[in-house]
Amino acid sequence: MTRSGLSALSIAELRPLLRRREVSAREVLEAVEERINAVDGKIGAYLSRDFGAAAVEAEKADVNLPLGGVPIAIKDIINVAGQPCTCASKILRGYRAPYNATVIEKLRAAGAIPFGKTNLDEFAMGSSTENSSAQLTRNPWDLSRVPGGSSGGSAAAVAIDAAFGALGTDTGGSIRQPAALSGIVGVKPSYGRVSRYGLTAFASSLDQVGSLTKTVRDSALIMNAIAGPDPCDTTCLNEPVPDYAAGLGRGLKGVRLGLPKEYMIEGIDSPVRQAVDVAVKHLASLGAEIVEVSLPHTDYSISVYYILATAEASANLARFDGVRYGYRAENPTDLLDFYGRTREEGFGAEVKRRIILGTYVLSSGYYDAYYLRAQKVRELIRRDFEQALAKVDALVSPTSPTPAFKIGEKTSDPLQMYLADIFTNAGNLAGICGISLPCGFARSESGRTLPIGLQFLGKALDEARIFEIAYAYEQSTEWHKARPSLNDQNIVGK
Ligand code: GLN
Repeated sequence: MTRSGLSALSIAELRPLLRRREVSAREVLEAVEERINAVDGKIGAYLSRDFGAAAVEAEKADVNLPLGGVPIAIKDIINVAGQPCTCASKILRGYRAPYNATVIEKLRAAGAIPFGKTNLDEFAMGSSTENSSAQLTRNPWDLSRVPGGSSGGSAAAVAIDAAFGALGTDTGGSIRQPAALSGIVGVKPSYGRVSRYGLTAFASSLDQVGSLTKTVRDSALIMNAIAGPDPCDTTCLNEPVPDYAAGLGRGLKGVRLGLPKEYMIEGIDSPVRQAVDVAVKHLASLGAEIVEVSLPHTDYSISVYYILATAEASANLARFDGVRYGYRAENPTDLLDFYGRTREEGFGAEVKRRIILGTYVLSSGYYDAYYLRAQKVRELIRRDFEQALAKVDALVSPTSPTPAFKIGEKTSDPLQMYLADIFTNAGNLAGICGISLPCGFARSESGRTLPIGLQFLGKALDEARIFEIAYAYEQSTEWHKARPSLNDQNIVGK
């Protein structure tokens, strides 16, 4: 098999070749490196990679392990010992992680090789990866568009076969939305399913680590490796983890799917609405029973999310003071000047906006009106999902109201950008699990095809169910087989 043929394989296709020693882990790694060198100049998915260290790991890879010899890309907000961890922020430029996140230890224990770090919105705050202080990442389906965010580098890397799979993080949609906009599969596990030890915290009551892959089966394989208890993270639940990959293939007979009536709003682009309508009919034809459900507090989810996420971010980001990590302001006059200028110079505009908002909603006099009230409404949102999911196995919806938007289209209007997460962030508030997978294409005015994502939301800790449902849909459609073509595209403009 040629090198480029190799990098185009899914993990599930690659693994038997490695196990039977028809290819070596070294050859697989070289195929990824070649692919990155050939295409990432146009895309900008990677912030750093360490093929030297990865080659050493590949030499001794145990190909009998579940992910033995599989190179995996890592969002640059998760610590990989010895590699940079910049969170795409100037304030962490030059910082190298002194230890491995638990998910990295677990990936390694399963034989995977975490070889490089991918671009993101600074500290995972955004929906387009445009808030990265380092570089732009382009959508491989249309280079004038964003790949989604904040895990946009991970999504684009997988979409162009420059990684077999990737880790991302999802606080309000940052795995599912870029997966949708880039035409791949993204999984946000339930709160507490996957350890966050070694993840740079954004909003601690919402953050989860999950996978971005070419197929549902590949996501199940990565989840098998990373899910489960961790004594280093007290929010990580002590629950047994089923074999997600072994459970695939059960079909949709007897499965009940809920269609939240509040999600069929005006603002959905018509190609997205049409694709989701067709997908729902298709699910019914496969044997699923479709019922309408209600999530009455949907209108509040964006407001509640942006109060709680900013409040938590303002506390979490207090640690970046120039003393302990990364960037430090020069020639301070005193300590306050040092803190102030380090943060003023080190953080980007969106991060500062969030810190200011979060500090405001927590401030005395406003705490009850904003933070406390948002916590109460969050509980109502959580109950909405509990009640809806008591009647059905999973909910089905669009992942994002639009396909990939143009670079620069929403950067001057933060509220427009926040609306990109309208179908995803309530799942984080409720702590449940979700998956996005390709369900169709829209066509841009310049004639390019733009992927559309379908989301399934499942009960807390019921990842196995949404994997089964998504797999049944995927296996009876062809959407996941389409790949973007870069040969007919060139970067125009900036
Ligand atoms: N787009 C959302 C935000 O900007 C979600 C980000 C995320 O999930 N990390 O906060």
